[in-house]
Amino acid sequence: MDSFALPFHLPDFLVSACQPTDHGYRLVAYSTLLQAACPCCGQQSRCFNGFYRRDVADLPSCEAQLQLQLFVRRFRCANPACRRRTFSQVDPAWLKPQARRTNRLALAQLHVAMALGWQAGSQLLTQLHMPTSRDTLLRLIRHWQPPASSTTRIVGVDDWAIRKAEPMAQS
Ligand SMILES: [Zn+2]
Repeated sequence: MDSFALPFHLPDFLVSACQPTDHGYRLVAYSTLLQAACPCCGQQSRCFNGFYRRDVADLPSCEAQLQLQLFVRRFRCANPACRRRTFSQVDPAWLKPQARRTNRLALAQLHVAMALGWQAGSQLLTQLHMPTSRDTLLRLIRHWQPPASSTTRIVGVDDWAIRKAEPMAQS
């Protein structure tokens, strides 16, 4: 299996192929994880039990859409007392469970949607090679939660009331 250096970070995966698609490229990548803990009993396992495939969209590259075809490892639990026979590796930090896009793509789409709204945002994202539906953008906005350590200033009714009151106070 040949590999090559990527211009971006794809931790714990080895890219084996880059294939053209209708709108860009597809990177085929295999997990390099050597062991994982059984989610049922916690015992570490190095017994591979094949791969399963996940297709996810990623940030565009050189004005081309980028798809990742990820082959995620499955393991056999080595604990004979465990009721779990096989399990898959934990999702990488840059990909949420069941997600069809990487976290970095979802964040970029969210920023556009929050700046422009989901209708105009969907049109601009198509131009930027990150197409997605208006419904998906609306869902991203609804599920967005600021980081716990965020120092975002909350603008509320009082700010608006103060700004409206200032000109009146000066006149
Ligand atoms: Zn187990």
